[in-house]
Amino acid sequence: RSIGALGIIMIDNPMCPGTGHRICNDCMKACIYQKQDPVNIPQIETRTLTDVLYLPWGFEIYSLLTRWNPINVQRPYELPYNGKNVMVVGMGPAGYTLSQYLLNEGFGVVGVDGLKIEHVHPDITGGRDKDGNYITPKPVYKYKEIQDELDKRIFLGFGGVSEYGITVRWDKNFLKVEFLTLARRKHFKVYDGIRFGGTIEIEDAWKLGIDHIAIATGAGKPTIVKMKSNLIRGIRKASDFLMALQLTGAAKKDSLANLMLQLPAVVIGGGLTAIDTATEAFAYYPVQVEKFLDRYEASAAEFGEEKVMSMYDEEEKGIVKTFLEHGAAVRAERKRAADAGESPNFVPMVRSWGGVTLCYRKTINDSPAYRLNHEEVIKSLEEGIYYWEKMNPVEAIPNDYGAVKEIIFRKQGKTDEGKYIDLDEMVILQAKTVLVAAGTSPNVIYEREHPGTFELDEWKQFFQTYKLGENNELIKAEANETGFFTSYNKEGKYISVYGDNHPRYAGNVVKAMASAKDGYKEVVKIFRDNVKDEQPAGLEQNYLELVNRLDNEFLATVEQVNILTPTIIEVVL
Ligand SMILES: Cc1cc2nc3c(=O)[nH]c(=O)nc-3n(C[C@H](O)[C@H](O)[C@H](O)COP(=O)(O)OP(=O)(O)OC[C@H]3O[C@@H](n4cnc5c(N)ncnc54)[C@H](O)[C@@H]3O)c2cc1C
Ligand code: SF4
Repeated sequence: RSIGALGIIMIDNPMCPGTGHRICNDCMKACIYQKQDPVNIPQIETRTLTDVLYLPWGFEIYSLLTRWNPINVQRPYELPYNGKNVMVVGMGPAGYTLSQYLLNEGFGVVGVDGLKIEHVHPDITGGRDKDGNYITPKPVYKYKEIQDELDKRIFLGFGGVSEYGITVRWDKNFLKVEFLTLARRKHFKVYDGIRFGGTIEIEDAWKLGIDHIAIATGAGKPTIVKMKSNLIRGIRKASDFLMALQLTGAAKKDSLANLMLQLPAVVIGGGLTAIDTATEAFAYYPVQVEKFLDRYEASAAEFGEEKVMSMYDEEEKGIVKTFLEHGAAVRAERKRAADAGESPNFVPMVRSWGGVTLCYRKTINDSPAYRLNHEEVIKSLEEGIYYWEKMNPVEAIPNDYGAVKEIIFRKQGKTDEGKYIDLDEMVILQAKTVLVAAGTSPNVIYEREHPGTFELDEWKQFFQTYKLGENNELIKAEANETGFFTSYNKEGKYISVYGDNHPRYAGNVVKAMASAKDGYKEVVKIFRDNVKDEQPAGLEQNYLELVNRLDNEFLATVEQVNILTPTIIEVVL
């Protein structure tokens, strides 16, 4: 039954591990039971998926359904390789979902991402030997074989913001499921550490044998809030904080990463990023001070307390004192809880030290976080976050050392028409850490770095989108129309755009995936004569040659190791 249910889910949502519980709930909002508890479809979907994954060969069953799903009448099985190759830039939800759809239409897909993607053992991913022969991956019997312990897992780097933005609330093993599913496909290869616009430019891609480029590079540019002194020490972008936390693993006990957070902390913003930032900051603080105490004690035991303290300046000494006191309190609570056989409760403690306050210029009911995923608002309240509504930041006030100590906010009022207006009332909030999550804008950096390549929309925010006409001509999409192509058109080569980079699909994971689901059909249109049930023999060679060229360009291999002197070794890459 679960397999049948999963097959049905996957007709519309083949990459369903990336959605569901704690990610999306648009469907719940559309449920007719709004005056009582709506049907929790995200939880049902995720449960169906995990029921299948935990069956013997469960991962293989999911993986098979991405290639062969008999109840998907439109595309029940993958088509043979059609000789055309698409470079998908960005391996976030939009990019990996697009890859899935294009592979099933028979395209060769080359994924590139600027981020490092961990290499999983070829036993599980399969791959090709040096002669290009496909090596079948070892089938996975138990899902546990590929699962990582969440608090110890190595950052995989695949999945865009789902990996480095969205936090531990969501089981990131699902990203590994998606990654392995794609990595095993015969005509998919992903290259990491490749920046589109830097490592590779458009013309390079055509020369290497790419037939189409799909841009799914997300929305990375943070919005700057208009607040006086918004660059003083202690203030940072929320995305920067989250990325540092995830990439460095600062919250792990054995990580040496240095990511300092002081309380009270204030998060400015009303989106899901703001909520994730607030809950992560709240959870990170006790871990940080306890780790600090352990390391301080170890250093003091070795070098003596006086010597250790002499390394700090006056400002740092104050912080050290606070961290040591708080670290001791956290340790005591951990011991109390262990003795009582309970889980430790750090919430009252963190709150008494100033806690984490989320300040938003509107009411929370009007916030994007509430609209997109109200459950996360509920969870954050349970986790101890303070909320302060209708507060607009005006100025950051530094302490004697130049670091932030307070934020001045202007209270906001709401008119009967629902418009927010400035009131004359100012409020001061203490804050030693300020994390700004005021939204992001789409990644159109390529155009800024290579002016004249793409037309931007009238606000210079998104790429201007175009539709494809009957004869493959580009027609500008009107405001109420959806187009997937950018203005780029050279010698019959086009570039399309998806996810947070697309004006109509930006905003969340489901929309990013929907852009792929709707947009791949447009790419198929360009190559309509090539997408067929049967293909001539010999096409395969095209793909192998492409991969050889790309391996040559993108992969570093060790050619020689020369021992020059007993202490100098030369490595030739
Ligand atoms: C903290 C946080 C929490 C969120 N919570 C939720 C949630 O609960 N539910 C929800 O639905 N949505 C949530 N979102 C939004 C959601 O994550 C995004 O809308 C979604 O990830 C967009 O997918 P995408 O594929 O378009 O872009 P991204 O996920 O941003 O992926 C873009 C990829 O492109 C790569 N890239 C960028 N530039 C280049 C380049 N020049 N060359 C090569 N590669 C490049 C990046 O490294 C990245 O991997 C959250 C976002 C954040 C930041
Ligand atoms: S993918 Fe769509 S249907 Fe599935 S849980 Fe998310 S919002 Fe609901």
